[in-house]
Amino acid sequence: MPRKRLTHLKARRAIIDAALRTDAIGLNHGTTGNIGFRVGETFLVTPSGLYYDTMTPADIVELDFDGRQWGTRIPTSEWRFHRDIFASRPDVNAILHSHSVHCTALAVHGMEIPAVHYMVGTAGGTNIRCAPYRTPTTQALSDVAVEALKGRRACLLQNHGAIVLGETPDDCVNLLVEVEYLAELYCRTLAIGSAIGRDPKIISQRKMAEVLEMLKTYGQQPDPEGTG
Ligand code: 13P
Ligand code: ZN
Repeated sequence: MPRKRLTHLKARRAIIDAALRTDAIGLNHGTTGNIGFRVGETFLVTPSGLYYDTMTPADIVELDFDGRQWGTRIPTSEWRFHRDIFASRPDVNAILHSHSVHCTALAVHGMEIPAVHYMVGTAGGTNIRCAPYRTPTTQALSDVAVEALKGRRACLLQNHGAIVLGETPDDCVNLLVEVEYLAELYCRTLAIGSAIGRDPKIISQRKMAEVLEMLKTYGQQPDPEGTG
């Protein structure tokens, strides 16, 4: 693999900081999961099979869309879905893949996360889909992930985990926290539902359309005057 001077140092650090955050908040374990960050015409990814707490900027691998690589490490084995998501989603600059427990528990059942709570809308739609099972690291997995992410910023991967998208790696961690919360909430409501013999109530498509509209202006908005 050709070596290259250590470009995009800030972006490499942002990947490592976000990765360490996933460890710290219990949404990553061992060497599972990976992170990608677009840097202009190329993208950076975490190396395969390395613990985040041993990772340095030089361990991050740079890839382009023609299959070229720069770095001293083998890139994440899931580089195909990082490449294909960046290629098909110009609105996305960062990707995080995790095996967080509640997302994966639902994914083992091949279940999507329906609108159990209005915050499902933060992933961009009225549900968070679950892509069908495909062998990890394959082009087939990348294809079903790209499909499940259409119009969304998150999806589950059957019997595997979750993918979340964002502007920066840190954004992705924030969304992973939310998606894992929603997954845990849904798991718990399903357990209560089976105890009392009733399904949880799901917010209707019509009501979720109102939520999606509301979320467009939810929270702090950019200052149009730029006066801070
Ligand atoms: P890598 O260590 O190669 O990124 O693999 C982790 C993983 O989650 C594969 O699906
Ligand atoms: Zn994985």
